[in-house]
Amino acid sequence: MKVTQISEHIWSCKIWIIFPIHVWLVKEKSGITLVDTGLGMMAKGILNTVEQLKAGPLERIVLTHGHPDHIGGLKRIWRSKTVPTYAHRIEIPYMQGDLSYRKGRKPATYVEKGLIQALGEDEQGQLQRIGSLTPYFTPGHSPGHVVFYHEWDQVLLAGDLFTSKKGRLRAAPFTPDLRVSVQSSSIVRKLQPSKVEVCHGDSV
Ligand SMILES: [Zn+2]
Ligand SMILES: [Zn+2]
Repeated sequence: MKVTQISEHIWSCKIWIIFPIHVWLVKEKSGITLVDTGLGMMAKGILNTVEQLKAGPLERIVLTHGHPDHIGGLKRIWRSKTVPTYAHRIEIPYMQGDLSYRKGRKPATYVEKGLIQALGEDEQGQLQRIGSLTPYFTPGHSPGHVVFYHEWDQVLLAGDLFTSKKGRLRAAPFTPDLRVSVQSSSIVRKLQPSKVEVCHGDSV
């Protein structure tokens, strides 16, 4: 697994299986937030990296969405330590086997019910900051997809809202609602991050 520091507080962990898969470790005041968990085989490497960073324990996990290449490492990480784990409330039923991402297909159960908590929302439905990250609702690639913005470092952790090619953002593959995803991509214009990190490509 390749570990790269991408900004003052953020490290990416990457493996390559047909395409690259990234997860991100964010240094907080007293510990670490993990953004996405990758595949099961990445769990050990992620936990080792948490230790090597010497920035405190893994405090929480936040998930951009519930596709298996983002949630696949979760159970193995939990096996060594149960940490509070969050996703958008719309996405949680797809993770725990209540709803299927593909119409007419049997839902997949990645976690037992009740173990993933909903990201906090205020009365207007605005997602609340978690650790040093602000989540933004960006549906399209999946119904409850979110991205996480690190304001201090000006880095947008975009999950599968995009992929990238030759230094440019592209629509991510397997995006069932491309029109909605393109609308969601306006978040980049709104936030003007200095760096956008995508799960399956290089940073932009
Ligand atoms: Zn995905
Ligand atoms: Zn993905």
